[in-house]
Amino acid sequence: MIVTLEPNASQAAVDAVISLASRTPGVTPKVYRYEGQSHAITEVHLLGRTDTVSQEVMAGLAEVRAVFRVSTKYRIIGRHAAAQGTNGFTYNGVRFDDRELQLIAGLCAVDTLEHVEQMVQALAAAGLVTTRMGVYKPRTSPYDFQGLGAACLPWLFEACGRHGMKVVTMEVTDARHVEEIQAALELSGKPTGVMLQIGTRNAQNFELLKQVGQQHEFPVLFKRGMGITLEESLNACEYVASEGNPNIVFCLRGVKSHLGDPHRNLVDFAHVPVVRRQTRLPVCIDPSHSVGRMDLAPDGLTDVMHVTGQGLIAGATAVLVDFHPHPKAALCDGPQALTLDALPGFVSYCRRVRACYEAVSSY
Ligand code: PEP
Ligand code: MN
Repeated sequence: MIVTLEPNASQAAVDAVISLASRTPGVTPKVYRYEGQSHAITEVHLLGRTDTVSQEVMAGLAEVRAVFRVSTKYRIIGRHAAAQGTNGFTYNGVRFDDRELQLIAGLCAVDTLEHVEQMVQALAAAGLVTTRMGVYKPRTSPYDFQGLGAACLPWLFEACGRHGMKVVTMEVTDARHVEEIQAALELSGKPTGVMLQIGTRNAQNFELLKQVGQQHEFPVLFKRGMGITLEESLNACEYVASEGNPNIVFCLRGVKSHLGDPHRNLVDFAHVPVVRRQTRLPVCIDPSHSVGRMDLAPDGLTDVMHVTGQGLIAGATAVLVDFHPHPKAALCDGPQALTLDALPGFVSYCRRVRACYEAVSSY
């Protein structure tokens, strides 16, 4: 059962719902808060044997807006009757939802301070405030570059903050990484914010999903598992949300199949509307890890640009994309990185496709 309270409901009203629910043995109330642009919505989810909890009595409590019995499998992230009107979140002043376009461009892997400086300078000049900066890199071979790790966090955060970056997306593969990020941000005076990325290889690392779900400081960008069904990936997001953190962006990044050749993965952006229909999560696309190479089509656009357009025209509102000042010198995924001179064109292309989507849809 989900009890939705009136916008900006008082703590006393929340407490009254919890107290009434707690009278029924076997029912556990869990509180979720969604920060919208103009107000906050509180929901109390009643877990367990709720069949004897009276919907009418609950609905009669002060400041209760609606009470729903929920049978859907994605009770928190899902799009269902109990979940209308709450979509997305604001983090460090940046809105992630189904309307505002966020371009999360940056280095697949942080290598040198100089490259970080060049990257964020270019992003700032293009008017962007969100970036990707891989620090903990899960690599197929143990002999490949594994990322600079915690050592680079102080100068990375300082550089990002100095150039006005508000959200830095970086993958974590262990709860220890979250602690290192927290400590480094704290020490450097929080010049920027961080979105924790769950990579495709950890899409079903349930302990990691629970850990990022239990912390409420950072939002989570979850990348679809490359070899599991969409349903399994959405269930994984539900793990994060059910642990208490509903601030999740769902990212499509292609699935592993030789049928995708010559692309690195089979591009799965046809699933953008599916994820939007089944859930309330903002949907991101990652054209870089989907395509994995920098080929030019006869029309003068790279395949990376083409699939970006395909994802945006399908309704995605975020793009996670690899750039590098010198792709040949990159220590990770250089062949799929766009160069900095391509950034302004990429940004205007994305905005134009998004505008086209807004014109043709009833978004
Ligand atoms: C990445 O974005 O750097 C990455 C490793 O992506 P994925 O987990 O989708 O392979
Ligand atoms: Mn990569």
